[in-house]
Amino acid sequence: MIETSGATSARVSSRTAIVDCDIHANVPSVQTLFPYLPDYWIEHINQSLFKGPVESAYPPNAPVTARPGSIPADGRPAGSDLDLLRDQILDPLRVEIGILNCTYAVDSLHNPDAAIALARAVNDWLIAEWLDREPRLRASIVVPSQLPAAAAREIDRIGDHPGVVQVLLPARSHFPYGNRNYHPLWEAIARHDLVAGLHFGGVPGNPPTPSGWPSYYLEEYAGMAQVFQSQVVSIVSEGVFDQFPSVRVALLESGFTWLPSFMWRFDKEWRNLRRLVPWVKRAPSAYIREHIRITIQPLDVPPNPEHLLQIIDQIGSEELLLYASDYPHLHAADPEETLLRHLPETLVQKICNENARRFYRL
Ligand code: ZN
Repeated sequence: MIETSGATSARVSSRTAIVDCDIHANVPSVQTLFPYLPDYWIEHINQSLFKGPVESAYPPNAPVTARPGSIPADGRPAGSDLDLLRDQILDPLRVEIGILNCTYAVDSLHNPDAAIALARAVNDWLIAEWLDREPRLRASIVVPSQLPAAAAREIDRIGDHPGVVQVLLPARSHFPYGNRNYHPLWEAIARHDLVAGLHFGGVPGNPPTPSGWPSYYLEEYAGMAQVFQSQVVSIVSEGVFDQFPSVRVALLESGFTWLPSFMWRFDKEWRNLRRLVPWVKRAPSAYIREHIRITIQPLDVPPNPEHLLQIIDQIGSEELLLYASDYPHLHAADPEETLLRHLPETLVQKICNENARRFYRL
């Protein structure tokens, strides 16, 4: 069992600088990308109804979209202003390294050329207007994940940039990511020694639950844990980690309290059915503990906070959890109050810094 310390929030705030593994950088408008788009697409956007991806997993007025004070005074969306990010996260939290995730929904586009051009433009924008201006930042790159070969080419184009540490993949996809249609994508991720970051959301066109279309956004948000679980089952069962042993996967904005019971079930069924997947040599939980990491925000806090500490213990590894503010999104639970201040200092250090440094090779 993890021994809880009598720590106070003052002790937590005196920890060393943190690595924030989920900071959102939002494209203010498609016009922002014009300096990074070919003339053809600028003309197309100016002269047609096409204005780039309009789908978003974050409704503008939902609490999970923008925490108080994160919307710039000029009306741009939350998460689109570097100075606000410095004032609200990088400086006050003493962030040593922050990883940007831009959920620009190129996966929603049916025109493959548009998806490829806009992903490319977003990545060049991230480098020029965020990474080049703020040395504490790193970035996940946006790829047309519905076109694995094209996504691989974009990874080859930009994956060796020193500020690029991750390839962002929407949690929802056309097929589960273990499917061999995605192997060119995994090959490219392995080739550049990057992390695959599966993030909440995605607009593949199929329902966001295994049983069809829900009616309300609440259903989609709460049910997203099932989508993450289906991706982990697929990636492990289809042998991605066996075929590409260097591949690492981060689950971003997935919650983590479901992980212990999920691993118990997955291990049990693997013991029953492993003849069907003989390339999966070890119990699924062993692959998960070696290859997968999970950000701590949003934190699904149980009514009895003691149970949260039991879940940390049941996960069975001190290496799995990564600190994330999920800025500018607002979540009900403050990870410092509900989790970190109750943990031993060595584990806090791992969650806040060391796990991410090792996993992302920072
Ligand atoms: Zn996030």
